[in-house]
Amino acid sequence: MADHSSQSERRRIVVVGGGITGLSAAHRLIELSQQQGASVEVILLEASSRCGGVFGSERIGDYLIERGADSFITNKPWGVNLCRRLGLEGELISTDDRYRRSLILHRGKPVQTPDGFNLLAPGQWWPLFRSPLLSWAGKLRVAAELFVPKLKVPQDESLAEFVRRRFGNEVLENVVQPLVGGIYTSDPEQLSLRATLPRFPEMEQQFGSVIRGLRRQAASSRQQEGASGARYGLFATLAGGMQQLLDRLEERVGDQAIVRKSTSVQSIRRLGSGYEIVTESDVIAADGVVVTLPTYRSATLVQSWAPELARRLDEIKYASSAIVVSGHQLADIDHPVDAFGLVIPQREQRRILAVSFLSRKFPSRAPEGRIILRTFVGGAMQPEEMERSDAELEQLVLEELQSVLGVRGRPDFVRVARYNRAMPQYHVGHLERVGEIERLAGELPGFELAGNAYRGVGVPDAVHSGEQAARRLWESIFPAPVKGEGVA
Ligand SMILES: Cc1cc2nc3c(=O)[nH]c(=O)nc-3n(C[C@H](O)[C@H](O)[C@H](O)COP(=O)(O)OP(=O)(O)OC[C@H]3O[C@@H](n4cnc5c(N)ncnc54)[C@H](O)[C@@H]3O)c2cc1C
Repeated sequence: MADHSSQSERRRIVVVGGGITGLSAAHRLIELSQQQGASVEVILLEASSRCGGVFGSERIGDYLIERGADSFITNKPWGVNLCRRLGLEGELISTDDRYRRSLILHRGKPVQTPDGFNLLAPGQWWPLFRSPLLSWAGKLRVAAELFVPKLKVPQDESLAEFVRRRFGNEVLENVVQPLVGGIYTSDPEQLSLRATLPRFPEMEQQFGSVIRGLRRQAASSRQQEGASGARYGLFATLAGGMQQLLDRLEERVGDQAIVRKSTSVQSIRRLGSGYEIVTESDVIAADGVVVTLPTYRSATLVQSWAPELARRLDEIKYASSAIVVSGHQLADIDHPVDAFGLVIPQREQRRILAVSFLSRKFPSRAPEGRIILRTFVGGAMQPEEMERSDAELEQLVLEELQSVLGVRGRPDFVRVARYNRAMPQYHVGHLERVGEIERLAGELPGFELAGNAYRGVGVPDAVHSGEQAARRLWESIFPAPVKGEGVA
């Protein structure tokens, strides 16, 4: 039965989904209600028995492993800002500079990515010219980028089209596809460059060349570093693992809001100027709702009263992947594993996408003489691998690790974490699709969408998306200007 109690005095906002986006949205609503002195009841509904979605740190003996996200980028400020507001700034740890390099499998052997290579383009000539990853013809083609004319009419291109047009096919297949594919688990032929790495087409337009743009940027960031000194490395995590952020956030939210786990939202209905949120056991009336689910799930919630929005939400595709986390004795590995990780080009025809060396990035994670490997399987490029059972995935990964890194012997432990339809794919046309979704959702007062499907896939993006949705909703419910704060 619908509960309409106290709606006239106290506003009620329901947040659907208890991943990092939903928790960030709920947290921001609580902050706003404290700052603005307005009385709001926040209810967060999470389908599973735990909050956190794709976060999951676990202690196994003296190992501290991550089953999902292992760190976050710091040049997008929203992750660090949230940690600061939660009193966790002192717990942030940076990556270990001794191993700051990545490896690419080339003809069956791990080869270092040329120093200064910036996802799509070289930042320095000498390491590129010395690298065995490209033939001389391939290297000269990369250098010729300086003379490739810019697009007269900028348009959304796939990553593959852009790289082929500016740098040639060899660097796409041997370097860029595995580096970028590892981040987005996507097919580069479909991935929208403008939605994922907009700075590269912007550099093309501004400087007429990406290489020239990178050089200018490097020069100005050297100047800035000289002036201020970088506070954190490019990636950070928490001393107690990513779960520490989740736990603190959940604790803060739980102090002021109602967090209901094992509560799956079945549908949302419109009710006058508000909404009714239908769970398996009850119906909750609310003045506003923030939906933070994957878009295919959000679509089903609004299908009956916002069919066009549901159709647009359903257009965003998702990929599935698995991470096989394993702990090994370093003495059992032939390769020195002296890097943050290894990415694997599609053309190498392996059955794994990448291996991240977690305890090289963050050394405190493994006992002395041991290492944590996180092997990525599936994604948009190898969906068939997800058909395998956990035991088969474990077997496959151990065989592949032996072949590419010379990992022998029994691991100390193996954990398989599966992520079904968890990674949104930003295909060409993504920004237009999202613009349309935002326009349609904007016509629904008191209704907000947030998550990693819209304007960024990483943890800081998810935090920002949740916080922005909270603020928009706040402003629609309490139209007076938000006083004296500048976070979201
Ligand atoms: C394998 C993997 C590794 C990643 N690694 C990194 C990394 O290292 N660094 C980084 O920055 N980013 C990483 N990301 C991305 C980042 O972790 C995600 O973007 C972010 O965690 C998404 O959070 P979310 O809250 O939007 O979604 P989710 O975490 O998916 O949360 C959605 C929540 O909604 C709940 N839910 C679903 N349906 C319902 C319903 N009907 N009713 C109520 N609740 C429901 C789910 O149970 C879930 O808890 C990774 C992503 C994946 C998949």
